[in-house]
Amino acid sequence: MSRKARTYLDWNATAPILPVAREAILAALDLVGNPSSVHGEGRAARTIIEAARRDVAALVQAEPANVVFTSGATEAANLVLTPDFRMGRTPLKMSLLYVSAIEHPAVREGGRFAKGDVSEIPVTSDGVLDVAALSRALEVHDRETGLPLVAVMLANNETGIVQPVRDVAELVHRHGGLLLVDAVQAAGRMKLSIAELGADFLILSAHKLGGPKGAGALVSRGEVLMPAPLIRGGGQEKGHRSGTENLPAIAGFGAAAKFACADIEMRSERLETLRARMEERMVELAPGMTIHGRAQERLANTCFFSLPGLKSETGQIAFDLEGVAISAGSACSSGKVGESHVLTAMGFDAGLGGLRVSLGTDTAEADIDHFLSAFERVVSRRRQGVAAA
Ligand code: PLP
Repeated sequence: MSRKARTYLDWNATAPILPVAREAILAALDLVGNPSSVHGEGRAARTIIEAARRDVAALVQAEPANVVFTSGATEAANLVLTPDFRMGRTPLKMSLLYVSAIEHPAVREGGRFAKGDVSEIPVTSDGVLDVAALSRALEVHDRETGLPLVAVMLANNETGIVQPVRDVAELVHRHGGLLLVDAVQAAGRMKLSIAELGADFLILSAHKLGGPKGAGALVSRGEVLMPAPLIRGGGQEKGHRSGTENLPAIAGFGAAAKFACADIEMRSERLETLRARMEERMVELAPGMTIHGRAQERLANTCFFSLPGLKSETGQIAFDLEGVAISAGSACSSGKVGESHVLTAMGFDAGLGGLRVSLGTDTAEADIDHFLSAFERVVSRRRQGVAAA
């Protein structure tokens, strides 16, 4: 029986475009109106944007009025990570930003905060935020200078490990601070509610859900407390993000969000079953390997592992040659395989390197079989190489 030549198992880097998102994008491309125009053509474009806003809001059980569309999660992070907020008309100063050591660079770089005003909070060797360390940092935060802003992701993009966001929210609010939750990897893979999480802000990205690349959102808990705009101009998105809206991308984002909302539990259970079979067989084939965070609560689709003596770069190329696309953690813009800051933060030898397999909606049993046969060959070559050395 013939099978497709390549198997894509890098859904945390980006997901294939969903047919519903493609259709929505193509339909929006044919609309001529500017969503800010008052004529019929403009109103038709506006209708598409507002429908997408409702669908994206529903994904995280937020109010549609609290969704600001951006060019992606990185822009949304840069919009919200600023010392300058407004509570209605009153300026509100955030003096220090606290980020977990395992945040994606979009957050870890600190947005508009000066480098010296960004403080990193460690994680435990289990890859979970050290809540006690955050508590100690907030205890000594000087509120005279401004309030603390804290950023913690809901699920890590490399390990899939779910972070104790509710506990963090409680702690941050007790200290009068604000909490940003990066929900980029969790959205569409876990049922989400901004209120239940206790987050003040969430960031989302369309392309992780099967929407287009280059679309995202900042979602806020309310409308009153908002960061100073990053992009000023014509006042679109209620002045929070100027510039004519990217109508096709937003339409595709809305369609993907609507798809992602449906059957989350069923999809997640299916992926968990596939992953469990995959991981069991991997451990049989390579008993000395480590699956990072296997004992922790993880996204159902993610497996981050290290094989003794196998560098990430070599491993990634070996699997690629076998026709399997996996990654060495986060996708660096340069295409270079860097050391994993997540593994370093967890206290592992970063030189050891990790490889990430991430599954998605289209992943079938045959894809897992393809990966496992590639894995078997990579492990056996590795063993022979070590024996010959
Ligand atoms: N946050 C996390 C956890 C991510 O995985 C990514 C993408 O890799 C981003 C933020 C950035 O998203 P975008 O590509 O939309 O800028």
